[in-house]
Amino acid sequence: MKKHNFYAGPSILPDFTIQKTAEAVVNFAGTSLSVLEISHRSKEFVAVMDQAIALVKELLEVPEGYEVLFLQGGASMQFCMVPFNLLKNKAGYYNTGVWASKALKEAKFFGEVVEVASSKDKNYNYIPKNVSIPSDIDYLHITTNNTIFGTQIYKDIEAPVMLVADMSSDIFSRPIDISKYDLIYAGAQKNLAPAGVTLVIVRKDALGKTGRPIPTMLDYNTHIEGVSMFNTPPVLPVFAGLQTLLWLKENGGIKAMEVKNLAKAKLLYDEIDRNKMFTCPVPDPEDRSRMNVVFVMVPGYEELEKAFLAKAKELNILGIEGHRSVGGFRASIYNAMPIESVAVLVAAMKEFETQN
Ligand SMILES: *Cc1c(COP(=O)(O)O)cnc(C)c1O
Repeated sequence: MKKHNFYAGPSILPDFTIQKTAEAVVNFAGTSLSVLEISHRSKEFVAVMDQAIALVKELLEVPEGYEVLFLQGGASMQFCMVPFNLLKNKAGYYNTGVWASKALKEAKFFGEVVEVASSKDKNYNYIPKNVSIPSDIDYLHITTNNTIFGTQIYKDIEAPVMLVADMSSDIFSRPIDISKYDLIYAGAQKNLAPAGVTLVIVRKDALGKTGRPIPTMLDYNTHIEGVSMFNTPPVLPVFAGLQTLLWLKENGGIKAMEVKNLAKAKLLYDEIDRNKMFTCPVPDPEDRSRMNVVFVMVPGYEELEKAFLAKAKELNILGIEGHRSVGGFRASIYNAMPIESVAVLVAAMKEFETQN
């Protein structure tokens, strides 16, 4: 029976990625060895790493002067690696959700941190507007998609300082102008690969300016010099990530993905806005995430929440329980989510309205 996988992360991957990875677990690149047991220095795996780096550059149109890295420790490790490598005196952070505030907290170990903008006053249900960005900070850190609260920044921000972005849950979902950013990072388990690898895109000239000694493994330059092979890389997630990149290319690249993502998000938000039982806690449609669609029961219908979850489960709709800090529901509709599955959820919402 087909399952409709709306989990927030780890989350749905293309069938192509799962299939190719399963094959490589048995016989990797015709070696008669499993990808689980082959040396990361074998020519077959070095080719995987090289191709994955090249495809990230191609798909995202990464300009000269930037390096693509595959690291470990998740996006959470980047919360400390970023300030370790970039924060000399002062950094500015947008506080737009749980992940943003965790990133901000880590930066405080390395210097002064200013909260340049915050949406905490309304339980993070909007993106702050008309923000004035101080020019005396070393960098500005933003979270482009707030996975838990369902808000997203679509426009590449113009910053008078270095710009750093956590794109864990929306990388590859829409075209971005990489040249506006100095460092981008993304835990792979939302839109690229299984958990265990983190993608980093960094402008080389942004590094080496703090004067601070950095432990070897936490220094981006170590991994630039080692081509993400300074130590044993997470071989399986990198292999699977490459399959997703190949799938992305085969399916028209990032622009085509954005068109599909817009259609999926519209289908679901239109139903949330129409249905008398559900509402989206993010009032401004401009701020609503196209990756994580958060919705709750309209006041008066709250006691039906469990019943809707039960109905969803019956229909093989998985993973729509909301995060505990928002409640209600969250449907994560990443790149690999087919619109047909979104349509199944929408049909369930319509039916639930008529039945109750
Ligand atoms: C999931 C997520 C994280 C945490 O990622 P880990 O790889 O588990 O550390 C950080 N930021 C955002 C935006 C996320 O969605």
